[in-house]
Amino acid sequence: MDLFFFVLRQGVGAALLTVLLAAGVSCGRAATPPNVVLFVIDTMRADRLGAYGYEDASSPAIDALALESALFEHAYAPAPWTLPSTVSLLTSTHPCDHGVLLDGQKIDSALVPMAERFKAAGYATASFFANPYAGPMSGLDRGYDHSEGRRFTNGDAVGAWLDGKGDRSFFLYVHNVEPHHPYRGVRDRARLPHKHVNQVLDSYRALTRADWSAGLPLGTKDNTQIQQEVLARLEELGPVMSELYDVDVGVADRRMGSVIEALKSRGLWDDTVFVLVSDHGEEFGEHGGWQHDQSLYNELLRVPLLIHLPRGEHGGRRLEGAVSLLDVLPTLADILDRPELARGASGASLLPMLEGESAASEARVIGIRANRKKFYRPWKLLRGDLNVAVLSGPWKAIWNAEPDTIELYDLASDAEEQVNLAAAEPERAEALGRIARDGGRGCTPAGGEARERETEIDEATLERLRSLGYAD
Ligand SMILES: [Zn+2]
Repeated sequence: MDLFFFVLRQGVGAALLTVLLAAGVSCGRAATPPNVVLFVIDTMRADRLGAYGYEDASSPAIDALALESALFEHAYAPAPWTLPSTVSLLTSTHPCDHGVLLDGQKIDSALVPMAERFKAAGYATASFFANPYAGPMSGLDRGYDHSEGRRFTNGDAVGAWLDGKGDRSFFLYVHNVEPHHPYRGVRDRARLPHKHVNQVLDSYRALTRADWSAGLPLGTKDNTQIQQEVLARLEELGPVMSELYDVDVGVADRRMGSVIEALKSRGLWDDTVFVLVSDHGEEFGEHGGWQHDQSLYNELLRVPLLIHLPRGEHGGRRLEGAVSLLDVLPTLADILDRPELARGASGASLLPMLEGESAASEARVIGIRANRKKFYRPWKLLRGDLNVAVLSGPWKAIWNAEPDTIELYDLASDAEEQVNLAAAEPERAEALGRIARDGGRGCTPAGGEARERETEIDEATLERLRSLGYAD
């Protein structure tokens, strides 16, 4: 009798499968799978968006999107600058594992970027990128039917591609650079002296990278004293710079909004998974530095992550657990019910969280900095060139490899990471430090090595330095 029912069930199952396949449905998958848009706003701090509680927000489109999306309150970029972070996002691998840490390095041929996976799954694929690190320079142009470097991308550019791509489902990657400096969006030029601010920022950037630019081991020409003068000027300009940043967030917001409009006007929005992320944040002197790539504090690692599902499913949910950009690829694979898309991924699917399960609570490596470019003696001594951040509930530890120190912060009471509790909580610090040390395997503090590529500081930068009196 049991056997009879088994055969009957198998028979019914097979018949049902045949019907489903005939109807174009397999394993719960729709005949036309949803489209995927991965939209990166470079240098976008989470806490500068209205959706994340910022009061002076210039982000109406992002805030409106958040109301229809799942919003991750604590999403972390795996690295504090574009190249390693974007490679991590698009391959779901930690920076020390993919090893793309320096200009000119490309992703290993064995590593399969997201677009190649979607292309193999039958998707039409396109990339519009304004940051060269997200294009051929790093090998991240692999897998696209159409890959185009652009100053910026809005709904017009995306719409033109959508109109010509045919009927297949698509994977679209857009990477815009505003609000990365130089601040271009400002119109109120009398009140906000953007040219002056950009000039000082350019000088700062060039000074921090002077040895690297000259092909010398970091620290060869120590310009710490000049950097200290520029740091003092940046401190004075901080409030203006912060306003300029917000203006450019508004520019980024309008462009993202126009891409959503392009999808809506073509009737594609309800069949699209739209993911908004950033590759890292930006620091405004909170821990002494400016721009990015000089530490692993949350002004650099905490980024927005919004996931808009077809027809707004799970929209409006705000999720507390700490997540990583490494999780984006496995999440997409899970949403689409295509596990093969996430083969070899180091991240974890966030779909269970979207569906109400609580986040995994074990300690996790959430950020790695393997500096190869920047030198400022006080920070070299304090932090060195290899840092690994670990999160465990409200606790965040940062291991600084060369001085072999551990910093420990309680984000619940000290979100700004101002009070290092490592001495007060030595056992906790050491336990998280062990995980961080393990997470840093594969990376070496190579700040002392000369870089491979030969590029001098360009003439325009030198001219700006001379005009400020900083060049020899
Ligand atoms: Zn970036």
